Amino acid sequence: MKGTCLCGSIEVVADSQADVAVCHCSMCRRWSGGPMFAVHCDSSVTFTGGEPATYQSSDWAQRGFCPTCGTHLFYHLLPGDEYIIPAGLFQNEPFVLTSQIFIDEKPPYYDLKNQTPTLTGQEVFEKYAPKA
Ligand SMILES: [Zn+2]
Ligand SMILES: [Zn+2]
Repeated sequence: MKGTCLCGSIEVVADSQADVAVCHCSMCRRWSGGPMFAVHCDSSVTFTGGEPATYQSSDWAQRGFCPTCGTHLFYHLLPGDEYIIPAGLFQNEPFVLTSQIFIDEKPPYYDLKNQTPTLTGQEVFEKYAPKA
């Protein structure tokens, strides 16, 4: 599947995905202005055109954005080299919302109507933490 940033200077190509997850964590909400709807991709994602600017938001992840228009392009999990890409970059995919994470950090001013499994931040870390 292919997507672009708002100004069109950076094109994203990733293997097609159907599942969209939404993250309600305080960092994603500050970064995005709202909950982050995203698709989980592996390391084979490519960005062509311009070079994404990056911000290291934690010890284990970088966030990337277009230096011209500011569109958010990726959340890059460094240990597993996985890219979590905002769903909005891809406008014609048959996406389905299948999970909500960091539900414990969701503020009270909105609730999604979608019925999906939810995970707390603690549960996310337990599920995805590298096994020693
Ligand atoms: Zn752009
Ligand atoms: Zn988040």
